[in-house]
Amino acid sequence: MEAHSESVHDQVSQRLRKSGLVYTAGRRQLVDLLLQFGRPATVPELLKRGSRLTQSSMYRNLADLEEMKIIHKVSGNDDHARYELTEEFIGHHHHLICVRCGAIDDFVVTSDTEHALDAALARAARSAKFTVSGHRLDALGLCARCKR
Ligand SMILES: [Zn+2]
Ligand SMILES: [Zn+2]
Repeated sequence: MEAHSESVHDQVSQRLRKSGLVYTAGRRQLVDLLLQFGRPATVPELLKRGSRLTQSSMYRNLADLEEMKIIHKVSGNDDHARYELTEEFIGHHHHLICVRCGAIDDFVVTSDTEHALDAALARAARSAKFTVSGHRLDALGLCARCKR
């Protein structure tokens, strides 16, 4: 997802400060990396690009930011844990999941489609007396590389 990095850093910093935590250089680097990827990234991918972060500090910062609900794990089609910033910071979006190589990409649909999805879900959930407050939608298929 495209997100304005300065405003994301501001929001993350505020969130941490409210909890008495500091936006350390390591945490900031990690948020920067996730913004650069613009899609859910695995730990090996993050380590390869974030050469200034050691593996142990990468894991520690991931755990800290996950606990603060600044990032979350995205479940895909394989066993790799992938991380992304939560929608609060990068906006509502969906995932394209490749069933062959496991790659995950972000995608957005038009607001008309979002409204139609919400309306359909609300109708479907009504019989269960369930109030829908949001949705997650993944599309499964083959990525461009695997399709070739
Ligand atoms: Zn693929
Ligand atoms: Zn949606």
